[in-house]
Amino acid sequence: MGSLMNDSLSAMGASIGVIERYREYLPVSDRTPIISLLEGSTPLIPSPRLSSIVGRGCRVYLKYEGLNPTGSFKDRGMTVAVSKAVEAGANFIVCASTGNTSASAAAYAARSGIRCAVLLPAGKIAMGKLAQAFVYGAVVIGLESNFDQCLQLVRDLSTEPGIAVVNSINPYRLEGQKTAAFEIVDALGDAPHLHLLPVGNAGNTTAYWKGYVQYYGLKRATRLPRMLGFQAAGAAPIYYDRVIEHPETAASAIRIGNPASWQQAKRAFQESGGAIEIVSDEEIFAAQSWLASHEGVFVEPASASSIAGLMKCCSQTACTQCPLPSIPDNATIVCTLTGHGLKDVASVLNDRVKPVSARPDKAAIMSVLERAR
Ligand SMILES: *Cc1c(COP(=O)(O)O)cnc(C)c1O
Repeated sequence: MGSLMNDSLSAMGASIGVIERYREYLPVSDRTPIISLLEGSTPLIPSPRLSSIVGRGCRVYLKYEGLNPTGSFKDRGMTVAVSKAVEAGANFIVCASTGNTSASAAAYAARSGIRCAVLLPAGKIAMGKLAQAFVYGAVVIGLESNFDQCLQLVRDLSTEPGIAVVNSINPYRLEGQKTAAFEIVDALGDAPHLHLLPVGNAGNTTAYWKGYVQYYGLKRATRLPRMLGFQAAGAAPIYYDRVIEHPETAASAIRIGNPASWQQAKRAFQESGGAIEIVSDEEIFAAQSWLASHEGVFVEPASASSIAGLMKCCSQTACTQCPLPSIPDNATIVCTLTGHGLKDVASVLNDRVKPVSARPDKAAIMSVLERAR
């Protein structure tokens, strides 16, 4: 009943957050204060150009999570984690972050009126995300360490009274994030055949798989997708099956050497008949630029790894266990685009991005246009 009413509410264009939309599948009760910024219900954008690259009548969709309130999918988990933290009486939330978790935590803390502290690897955070943490009023602590060490410190803080950790080691985060899978099934009428996504701490992979399995169990989907994850080549612990002490990639959101949800994600790839693969930074930037200039969708570098991955699957260099050839003709494929491109403009502002200078008269402008035609 709740979900029927909420479905018709969304059909009427009313905005509701993921807790209201999927309340019956989430660990909330009448006593839980709902801290929401009306996250979720993000667009599932058809990509005709990617569809034609894949061929065989397959349809590719982009789940554009950059349109969440703070510009990334982290908001889906944060609404649940912060609501539960407030319910439990916490007055301070803390997290380690490569950027987007801190932006989201800071916003939901502001919304609920509690304090937030974020532990960041100093100098390793995209400027837009850092600006968000400050402007939402968080205590921002920069550490001379990498993300994995920040996360260990946060684990140590979790035993303090009144403090709630809102990293994805907090199970409520994954509960909230699984709603993205629900939305995809609700939009398509079934689960896709193949789901591609970037992998950092691997919480999102775990959450999507949980959501798909839950909907399948409830017979809201007739199949489960193959899950296909992509790590950056310089930060690929799951792919190489070992902790990476000094993860390196320009895609800062997935610069993680020891993922918190490693084993759960590995199981998701195996159980689903999918795979974990790597893409180079070069492939990531090429995909980011291609997606913006061919489909009009601007994402941050980490998000482009799912697109880089799909292109790699369609190329000569596809891995031997690539699940793409084994999906049927006319299959549906979803790529999650995890965060908005405006969060990290520095990564695209290279020599290539310079305005053409011209005299301010029509003839001069026309000659520039002629050259670009
Ligand atoms: C957090 C994040 C990821 C990685 O997600 P995990 O759940 O850590 O695997 C990828 N892209 C963006 C933009 C993110 O913010």
